[in-house]
Amino acid sequence: MTKPASNLQIDSSRLWETIHTTAQFGATPKGGVRRLTLGPEDKQVRDWFRTACEKAGLEVQVDGLGNMFALRRGRDMSKPPLGLGSHLDTQPTGGKFDGILGTLAALEVIRTLNDAGIETELPLCVTNWTNEEGSRYAPAMMGSAAFVGDFTVDDILGRKDAAGISVAEALDSIGYRGDRPVGAQPFSGFLELHIEQGPILEAEGKTIGVVENGQGVLWYDGKITGFESHAGSTPMNLRRDALATLSEIVLAIEAIAVELGNAVGTVGEAVIASPSRNVIPGEIAFTIDARSADAAILAQLDERIRAAAAGIAAKRKVEVALDLVWRKEPTHFDKTLVGAVESAANALGYASRRITSGAGHDACNLNAKVPTAMIFVPCKDGVSHNELEDATQTDCASGANVLLHTVLSLAGVAK
Ligand SMILES: [Zn+2]
Repeated sequence: MTKPASNLQIDSSRLWETIHTTAQFGATPKGGVRRLTLGPEDKQVRDWFRTACEKAGLEVQVDGLGNMFALRRGRDMSKPPLGLGSHLDTQPTGGKFDGILGTLAALEVIRTLNDAGIETELPLCVTNWTNEEGSRYAPAMMGSAAFVGDFTVDDILGRKDAAGISVAEALDSIGYRGDRPVGAQPFSGFLELHIEQGPILEAEGKTIGVVENGQGVLWYDGKITGFESHAGSTPMNLRRDALATLSEIVLAIEAIAVELGNAVGTVGEAVIASPSRNVIPGEIAFTIDARSADAAILAQLDERIRAAAAGIAAKRKVEVALDLVWRKEPTHFDKTLVGAVESAANALGYASRRITSGAGHDACNLNAKVPTAMIFVPCKDGVSHNELEDATQTDCASGANVLLHTVLSLAGVAK
């Protein structure tokens, strides 16, 4: 019997149960998950996911980097499928929801359509991307990055983990080096549901984040070269102190980000070469992570950080070298898809707001090639990449319902 599509709801308890079933693969004593990409626990969850997809009538294919594509036929097979999904790998001390919610909610959407006897016009493709987290292998979001051609497949296959095991060896050891060429799966659009990983939705009492943008990123490796000398006998006006220089740079970055607005800037690593309590630091290696969702502000961040570093270096008579090791322009998700997400949230009566993603996601990579949008739901205290990561059953179900109705509006119901 076919139910009217407009009243359709996903099965909240079934979704919740699948989240907790898969959380057993790599469960940690503190209630989190440790499921490093392409390891034995990743194989367990992938096998579970493949079987669940096949039971739901999907045809599962795997590409040369282990990205998984589970196809549900549509009435019109001449069109590419609408993609929906996220990732199943976690951080070493990760949670049950980051990535997993989006992948399992996509499966839940298929199960709901099956139960209601609904055929969509467009085919649908539930997707699990390999190594979103980037903790075992760099770069993060590796599967989707290679999918859109940001890296070659050979480059990625040769990347090694800390134990010297290559991506190719890891894929073969768990049986997930598929024969589908990377990038071959066509999509008419792609939707990713994810926890916010930040505090905004919870603080404002909103259920749904309609993600408009992803932040652009600047990563620098920095090196300060001053001069090591005796901490007792070198007068203050004759020093070339690398740590005092770094302190000024850190505060300058903080001030620049605050002044520009819609920007963040962080010095997350700093290492003094041969530190000693009675030696003035002569050499320091450090990193900068600066982000903005606005391309013009990102450009100003780059200019002003470099200018500040050069000015401080000249004043203190030290050398400061900044090497830009990664630059990603801001992501602007597809207006039509973003609008479809917002309409679905409104039609379902959920309080929503437009939001920028502070973190990177597979969807940000895909958006370069495929019209893409994201849906956020709140997570407790904004905490993620932590075993304490938590989200409510109600919010997860609401996000999955928005995913379902966005799919129905974009893929169409076959008459
Ligand atoms: Zn994620």
